[in-house]
Amino acid sequence: MFSSFDQDRPSRLAVNQRPELELSFEFFPPKTDAMEERFWSSIDKLAPLKPSFVSVTYGAGGSTRERTLRMVSQIKAQTGVEPAAHLTCVGASRDEVDAVVRLYRSAGVNRIVALRGDPPEGAGQPFTPHPQGYRNAADLVAGIRAIADFDISVAAYPEKHPQSVDWDADIDNLKRKLDAGATRAITQMFFDNANYLRYVERARRAGITAPIVPGIQPVHSFKQISAFASRCGASIPLWIAERFEGLEDDPETHALVAAAVAAEQVTELLDEGVTQFHFYTLNRSNLVLALARLLGRRPG
Ligand code: FAD
Repeated sequence: MFSSFDQDRPSRLAVNQRPELELSFEFFPPKTDAMEERFWSSIDKLAPLKPSFVSVTYGAGGSTRERTLRMVSQIKAQTGVEPAAHLTCVGASRDEVDAVVRLYRSAGVNRIVALRGDPPEGAGQPFTPHPQGYRNAADLVAGIRAIADFDISVAAYPEKHPQSVDWDADIDNLKRKLDAGATRAITQMFFDNANYLRYVERARRAGITAPIVPGIQPVHSFKQISAFASRCGASIPLWIAERFEGLEDDPETHALVAAAVAAEQVTELLDEGVTQFHFYTLNRSNLVLALARLLGRRPG
């Protein structure tokens, strides 16, 4: 009775009695000087939370190759934080992708988030590999491994990748990526924790033992996030959509609801025993700082 009032839930324990947490933060490479200022300001505010790594995405078709490289190199050189560089197979030969991997290595970057990427026509369109390119993420992981001993993360999809024919194909693909040498999977955003927990169960049943880290997307703008979610096959439950309904012109209430929704999501996961969290920051720090605090991580 009253199990939801259980005082032994991790979220109800004193911070020093909670399980050790691992946090990571994802950024995108800024395009303008103003955006770059926000990028560094957010990194500076989040670095004291001692993340295991901060990752920087790779624009569609390698469009941010130079900026991603510059950001991860500077993070490595200027902050005490481990950077991870995202890398995709899109529109490049193996030799070209390998050259980027070697550049990361020579910049002292030891972590890569290895992805297939989406075709320039957009997510959901059929993917045709470059004739001399890596065919998919598992192939890319094997290629990176052949170059050096990187820490490699791969993508996982709690609601199934839209191009997987069924669940077995989806989980088999995750297994191939981990067997090829990845250390962990990071999930696509999801808004119903049951989808994540069911996915982890499926993976464990298939013999996957690697960490499957939930990717948490705070809803800074419902309009923007719901459009992005539908493009990448992440559903938004009606009860969440209804919480944001009619708040387009009320940014203050929208921000409070966003904080409440994300707080509920992470504390529920913590209480389910999750100890690793990856936050999609969109280069902002405020909500992530608050969420880390709720999880028990303070700047230090
Ligand atoms: P894969 O694991 O290769 O799988 C793609 C699809 O192909 C799956 O449906 C899989 O089942 C199927 N498949 C793979 N191999 C085979 C095979 N041998 N036979 C049959 N089917 C197969 N995109 C970017 O452009 N830049 C980024 O920085 C970026 N970062 C991301 C970070 C995270 C944490 C996540 C979750 C996604 C990210 N993405 C990024 C998006 C990603 O590129 C897309 O979701 C893409 O559609 C799939 O990439 P993947 O690495 O999961 O592909």
